[in-house]
Amino acid sequence: MINKPAILGGTPEFAEEIPMTRPTLANEKEILEQARAVLASGMLTNHEFVRQFEDKCSQYLGVKHTVAVSSCTIGLMLVMKCLDLSGEVLVPSFTFSATVHAIAWNGLKPVFVDCQPDTFNVSVKDIEQAITTKTAALVGVHIFGNPCPGEGIEMMASEHGIPVIYDAAHGFGARYISGNMVGSGGSAEVFSLSPTKVLVAGEGGLVTTNNDDLATKLRLARNYGNTAGYDSPFSGLNGRMTEFNALIGLTNLERIGECLSARSRLASTYQEALAGIPGLRFQQVLPGARSIYKDLAIYVEPKNFGLSRDELGEFLKLENIYTKKYFYPPTHHLSAYTAHTDRSWSLPVTEDLSSRMLCIPLFSHMSLEHVERIAGCIRSAHRHSPEVHRRFLG
Ligand SMILES: *Cc1c(COP(=O)(O)O)cnc(C)c1O
Repeated sequence: MINKPAILGGTPEFAEEIPMTRPTLANEKEILEQARAVLASGMLTNHEFVRQFEDKCSQYLGVKHTVAVSSCTIGLMLVMKCLDLSGEVLVPSFTFSATVHAIAWNGLKPVFVDCQPDTFNVSVKDIEQAITTKTAALVGVHIFGNPCPGEGIEMMASEHGIPVIYDAAHGFGARYISGNMVGSGGSAEVFSLSPTKVLVAGEGGLVTTNNDDLATKLRLARNYGNTAGYDSPFSGLNGRMTEFNALIGLTNLERIGECLSARSRLASTYQEALAGIPGLRFQQVLPGARSIYKDLAIYVEPKNFGLSRDELGEFLKLENIYTKKYFYPPTHHLSAYTAHTDRSWSLPVTEDLSSRMLCIPLFSHMSLEHVERIAGCIRSAHRHSPEVHRRFLG
């Protein structure tokens, strides 16, 4: 950006709004043709396309079973139901609300754990310190598509006899340091296919597991818990995926490789273009692991950058660049979890990240030129920060 910033009276860098994210959708014509075939067949839900989609995902992820569901939230709820848990579940507070809601919907008590300042994920140590005799399970989250240290977490958890579930909403296509795909870890992993995620089906979720019994139970659970004889051994719900969502997911899955390469290019372009700006840092990926950069999150340290996270967000909005504060507030501050609790939480890293993290635009079909221009605006915000900061003050 060479012009004067918009906040100081210049023209906005972009004439049209640049959203933080947009779904990248494959082949509209193919989707419409197949949707017609679905309508003609009369089989509208949980049928051939769902089956095909499940098989292709299992192949891609290197996991034995994929159970398609109506959303990631429902998938998480069903996994916890099927594992028949009672007591407390450890969960990072630095996540999206739905991770915690799924715990609460099962009548389980969320116990919030802190995360690491560099990876923004939970570490083995963060979790191990929080384990008590009441701990029934732990939920790991691959924040912004950056895989948790799954191998270490699972080894530690198995010593304590505690099942591990992953909220993999952000993680389709990511890899652990072992080289295994996210999706193959823990008792089960749960993906989201909603429009802000990397693999999109409109709405939908995928539960992946290597456990045969759990997969069978999940298939019952998503269909009210009905057995062939219409008995219900436990209370299920309707968590089925429609054929329409499955066919959108399938078509997008065919192009997932391209999307992941594009994201990786976009993320490294951002990182190179923003390198060296004081007060900014990025999420660290563990050596050997692969992040899919579901979001490009920057940590804004106000003293050295010259502006706070909120001020930078406002500055960019005036340039027509839209950003989001993820995750703010952190989940342990949500009214649902402050109203009825007898505990207070000390989560200093979470509090800090939550107040300083800004997610900037990144989606698979975004152009490198836009990335360069957005990075230019962020550089300009730093360069003009004394004047811009005074403008915010008054
Ligand atoms: C989006 C999201 C969910 C919820 O996914 P749905 O498919 O919309 O239910 C859960 N967890 C995280 C971390 C998410 O970002």
